[in-house]
Amino acid sequence: MPTSGTTSGTTSGTTSKTYDRTRVAAWAAPASGEPLAPTTIERRAVGENDVLIAIEYAGICHSDIHTVRGDWGPQPFPVVPGHEIVGTVAEVGSAVTRHRVGDRVGVGCFVNSCRQCVNCLRGDEQFCLDGGVGTYAVTDRDGTTTQGGYSTHVVVDAHFVMSVPDGIDPAAAAPLLCAGITTYSPLKRWGAGPGKQVAIVGLGGLGHMGVKIAHAMGAEVTVLSQSLKKQEDALRLGADHYYASSDRGTFGALAGRFDLVLNTVSASLDINAYLRLLAVDGAFVNVGAPPEPFSVNPMSLIYGRHTVAGSMIGGMAETQEMLDFCAEHGIGADVEVIPASAVNEAYERVLASDVRYRFVIDTSTIG
Ligand code: NAP
Ligand code: ZN
Repeated sequence: MPTSGTTSGTTSGTTSKTYDRTRVAAWAAPASGEPLAPTTIERRAVGENDVLIAIEYAGICHSDIHTVRGDWGPQPFPVVPGHEIVGTVAEVGSAVTRHRVGDRVGVGCFVNSCRQCVNCLRGDEQFCLDGGVGTYAVTDRDGTTTQGGYSTHVVVDAHFVMSVPDGIDPAAAAPLLCAGITTYSPLKRWGAGPGKQVAIVGLGGLGHMGVKIAHAMGAEVTVLSQSLKKQEDALRLGADHYYASSDRGTFGALAGRFDLVLNTVSASLDINAYLRLLAVDGAFVNVGAPPEPFSVNPMSLIYGRHTVAGSMIGGMAETQEMLDFCAEHGIGADVEVIPASAVNEAYERVLASDVRYRFVIDTSTIG
């Protein structure tokens, strides 16, 4: 049974405001390429399986920027981005048992799926055969368009709501919901661990999480960044080695070295140059999502029995596993917490590879 439209939800920080689901404060992109601006949106009434979350922090992922700039095609503007959401439970539906009012929780890139197809049943909800529902800019199963976490509140089916362990600072936890799981899942699947040589390409939001997680898994970690500017940071984050991809000597020095190259770069790369860095049976796993296709020389695959693969976030159970892993290893993102009014400037800095290493919006500054 849906509850009434208003409840006493706590916004972040110390102020408590009445929650009106028809007028939830948010920041939205009004049209492709236009700056984000304050607005209000409507959230659905809390259904029996739903959780109402008072959002505290929302991370800025490069995917938010690809989306609002139109890199991935037309979008249902206005779009409220944000799929790295952490907050506290303000209300639960009558059938919800996993979460209680006051719990700290997180929401990542998906808020719905069919829950019945073979992929959903094995815990790969992100690959739902009936169409998984992204956290924003997607038509939900009830016909409404989803709106993301640059906002004060969100209503999400409890299945897609993770528990954020106490040990992780909430602002540093937000980026784990996308950047964390997007790197954890392929690192685990492709066997990052003791005795393995792992390269992380690109030291941005995803890349810096990849370094921390691969290091915690026990792998020997090398960062490949465009310049030497981030060397000191990379070593502090847990990298064992650091090379600039702009240095022509790098690709010769590292030829045949890596069991796994994880590419987190948001722009097109010469993939063949990176395939030459793989050891025999090594894998190049792509998680970066620029709009352009890349071309692979067959010889780059044949010689060395190489694999080229991709990976997209992770399922709900694996996302919870990642959060628990991060809490156990004392891992959170390195964040720069900003007010919502700084979001457009933050986008420009992300585009200039000037993020150290994730911008996170303090949503108490919204509305
Ligand atoms: P980000 O913070 O902007 O990091 C990307 C990094 O790529 C930059 O910091 C920079 O690192 C490097 N880079 C940028 N432009 C480059 C260029 N022209 N040439 C070489 N390197 C360049 O972005 P992010 O949030 O980590 O996201 C990275 C990509 O992953 C985006 O395309 C995003 O959409 C995608 N993504 C995919 C998934 C998934 O499930 N597969 C999930 C989330 C995001 P250096 O300064 O170190 O060179
Ligand atoms: Zn993301």
